[in-house]
Amino acid sequence: MSEAEADCLFCRVVAGELPSTIVRETDTVVAFRDINPQAPTHVLVIPRAHYADAAEVGREEPSLLVDMLNVAAGVAEEEGLTGTGYRTLFNTGADAGQTVFHAHLHLLGGEPLGGLVG
Ligand code: 5GP
Ligand code: ZN
Repeated sequence: MSEAEADCLFCRVVAGELPSTIVRETDTVVAFRDINPQAPTHVLVIPRAHYADAAEVGREEPSLLVDMLNVAAGVAEEEGLTGTGYRTLFNTGADAGQTVFHAHLHLLGGEPLGGLVG
């Protein structure tokens, strides 16, 4: 792990160094519950490899975005959200409220979500 990655919260989740409630894993992606949930289901889906944000994933390893969306859909189904619906979103940069600079897809659901989330 590089020095930058050792300092990255979500690289530490992937490495098992930070306790987290993992709900699904593949060889490329890990999904775990958000520590401060904004909805009854609030799961973060992250690539195992470090990318600062979704745009960087798209530039460098676009198929990972598909992996992340498919894992989110699988978790949503497992949580019974397929019928009622759910939201998937990326925050990119400060104005969007991105606070952790390891790319992560938010999966939110379990109640009507209203307008903007973040
Ligand atoms: P952002 O605002 O960067 O899009 O989202 C970061 C998310 O990571 C927030 O929803 C925040 O609650 C969550 N988070 C921050 N630190 C931790 C942590 O140590 N563990 C978990 N499971 N989630 C975290
Ligand atoms: Zn990282």
